[in-house]
Amino acid sequence: MNIKNKLLDFGTNPLVSKFTKPIVETVVNAIGGKPADIKTVHERLQICRKNTCGNYIKKGENEVCNAKTGGCGCFLADKTRLADEQCPKKLW
Ligand code: SF4
Repeated sequence: MNIKNKLLDFGTNPLVSKFTKPIVETVVNAIGGKPADIKTVHERLQICRKNTCGNYIKKGENEVCNAKTGGCGCFLADKTRLADEQCPKKLW
């Protein structure tokens, strides 16, 4: 299994992964983004879920960095998986 397939099979939970998998695939393919390693993805998501930034929200099954409170508006399951992404609050 190559790194891209590992990335696409990884998810914060099965429901989220089911819906975000096609989005991640599209993003990775479209921008040629380098995937982050799994440990990094976990660390990033843990930081987001603490919500010290005040931007973390859940929209249905999706975790989002809320643009209405100064976040980037990204789906976190996707954002955290791309190696070159950065937290807009510089928390990771
Ligand atoms: S990316 Fe940064 S600002 Fe956005 S939810 Fe995560 S920790 Fe908060």
